[in-house]
Amino acid sequence: MVNIGILGVTGMVGQRFIQLLADHPDFEITALTASTRSAGKRYEDAVTWNLESKIPESIKDIKVVETDPKQLKDVEIVFSALPAENAAVAEPSFAKAGMKVASNASAMRMEPDIPLVIPEVNPEHLDLIEIQQKKRGWDGFIVTNPNCSTIALAMTLKPLYYQFNIKRVYVSTMQAVSGAGYNGVPSMAIVDNLVPFIGEEEEKMETETLHLLGDFDGESVTDANFGVSASCHRVAVLDGHTEAVFIEMDDEFDVGEVKKSFSDFTGLPQKLNLHSAPKKPIVIREEKNRPQPRMDRMEGNGMAVSVGRIRKDKVFDKGLKYVLVGHNTIRGAAGASILNAELINEIM
Ligand code: NAP
Repeated sequence: MVNIGILGVTGMVGQRFIQLLADHPDFEITALTASTRSAGKRYEDAVTWNLESKIPESIKDIKVVETDPKQLKDVEIVFSALPAENAAVAEPSFAKAGMKVASNASAMRMEPDIPLVIPEVNPEHLDLIEIQQKKRGWDGFIVTNPNCSTIALAMTLKPLYYQFNIKRVYVSTMQAVSGAGYNGVPSMAIVDNLVPFIGEEEEKMETETLHLLGDFDGESVTDANFGVSASCHRVAVLDGHTEAVFIEMDDEFDVGEVKKSFSDFTGLPQKLNLHSAPKKPIVIREEKNRPQPRMDRMEGNGMAVSVGRIRKDKVFDKGLKYVLVGHNTIRGAAGASILNAELINEIM
């Protein structure tokens, strides 16, 4: 078993890490960290538990410590669910201390030597780890996963990008409140309402998507070269981001080919049969009124993206449109980091 720690373990993503890792076949939770507000408390006393399952018995009594590498003993991998501003300082200190950091935070995602990875989309970008360690003189390293809405979008763009050549993408999101963290959106702001702004979300979708689909030449990543325009909105859904996607292709296509491309899509995690890998990364819904977040977010244990309403768009030339749903704190956050760590554990 590999000893692991979770940074920012009391938050929305931290709780998902606990839920997904408590019975993991290869990883054993041995350290939990949060802010000084929580440090020194038993996990059960430090957390406002907000998931449908109970806090695992094996975790309740573990003492939460400060987010400082000196507090952790014999930990090989740390999963980070820290706010970006804390991650920017803390994550490098854990990598410098020799730990492998699998991060959810945005702080380091676009650094040229830090891999930003979805295992089904761009596992080859993990080769940046060696470059990172040499450049920074670290024994450990940092690997990041993208923002929650970008992950679901990029998983569906990957098969289309190679088969039909994408010219431009417009995406409009309807994002769950859990995406903002426990204290993120006040109930008075969201019940009976919708908030048409999520800070920096559109910029992340527009840059991270192109980086994920970019070419790695052995030294650096050259971002993919097509237009992405995003409009992001917060809606009164607990978990599960919905996205309406409009694509203009370079090449002719028919809807049947697009469906086949989605349903045939698999990657390295499926080939290696990794523990958290969904059997089918993209699941097609044929019903007219699906996918829906409440009905479809747990597809593939929350690790698959559900796609429906796949049809031609008449305004864009060679236009395609569809709707997707992805679980934002599982495939879009904790599950994404865990799949990255499982892949690293298997191949490095
Ligand atoms: P959250 O609910 O606000 O939790 C934040 C966590 O960080 C808590 O454990 C908190 O501990 C800890 N923390 C806060 N300040 C700290 C400090 N100064 N030092 C050490 N720990 C500190 O946030 P979240 O939604 O889980 O998000 C965590 C990260 O994942 C963020 O970077 C976010 O952007 C990213 N992310 C979130 C989602 C999502 O769907 N929620 C998806 C993708 C990525 P205390 O309880 O002690 O304050």
